[in-house]
Amino acid sequence: MNVSLIATIEKNALEAMGLIKDLETLARFETQFLGRKSELSSLLKELKNLSPEEKRTIGPKLQALREKLQTLHSEKQAEIENNTRDWEVERLDVTAPGIPRHIGHLHPITALEHEVLGIFEHLGFTVAEGPEAETEWYNFDALNFPKDHPARDMQDTFWIVGGGTKIKKGKVLERERLLMRTHTSPNQVRFMEKNKPPFRVIVPGRVFRNEATDASHEHTFHQFECLMLDETGKVSVATFKHVAETFFETFFGKKVTVRLRPSYFPFTEPSFEFDISCVLCDSAGCSTCKQTGWLEIGGAGMVHQNVLTAAGYPKGKYQGFAWGFGLTRLAMMKYKITDIRQFMGGDLRFIRQF
Ligand SMILES: [Zn+2]
Repeated sequence: MNVSLIATIEKNALEAMGLIKDLETLARFETQFLGRKSELSSLLKELKNLSPEEKRTIGPKLQALREKLQTLHSEKQAEIENNTRDWEVERLDVTAPGIPRHIGHLHPITALEHEVLGIFEHLGFTVAEGPEAETEWYNFDALNFPKDHPARDMQDTFWIVGGGTKIKKGKVLERERLLMRTHTSPNQVRFMEKNKPPFRVIVPGRVFRNEATDASHEHTFHQFECLMLDETGKVSVATFKHVAETFFETFFGKKVTVRLRPSYFPFTEPSFEFDISCVLCDSAGCSTCKQTGWLEIGGAGMVHQNVLTAAGYPKGKYQGFAWGFGLTRLAMMKYKITDIRQFMGGDLRFIRQF
């Protein structure tokens, strides 16, 4: 084998390498000088036909040349890639302002619920929850609603179609009908069944009414139920009045007077509607209070003994008040919102204002 041939290959390769400016010509160089059909590869294949002495002298020379060309190839590749990088695209400006992210927040009703629960917790109330799909027993019967009470009608209550029927071994076993709870009051009974007075509990939650919706009626809204029970003689209407006044004074941050008017609810006796002095005009008269100086807030009363016995308590042993309260209504008052449908309407332009 002619040793000068190796030198010629090296000389040609180095010359070719000097002219390479892009990856395309570099690829051609690789094929020409390092590829399987290159002269160098042919010489390496021929090594096995040489005498042991020639192998010792020529073999290392060929290997050294191949390694040298491979190194040059790698270096050239890195150089070309480095030269052709788009630095404008890859540039990292650490002083550039970040991409602003929209951070969500609580729905106004949820935020208000937290605020209300916070005040009641300070007054010694615990928070409980109950199911939204309720049985007829808890929603009506246990709360002393007569069987023919109009609130049970299809016009007022969402009954769950098919709910409450159970099929066993091909037979339909009738069970109690289910409905979407129309108030949070069923939780009075649920809580009483599991707890013994004295206790103070507040149950917030969504309630559902089969209403034709308008600015002041919505099929889904938020309430909370407030229940305080102790042995007979320890909790009176005066206790309720004090709790209600303390709550509203804390909530609105000003002096509030509570006024009770006789009313009727099946689950309380005596029952009353109650009003608070208008916090918007300080009782001077405004459009919100319809110039009366009073805001209608909700219903309350002393828990009916029939409800206490339905929960399993001995008749006459305990006494206390229950108070159902519209959280959505409170939100409308607080934020001066005139259309109740805004809250559940899903319009982010409304929600983002809070
Ligand atoms: Zn007013």
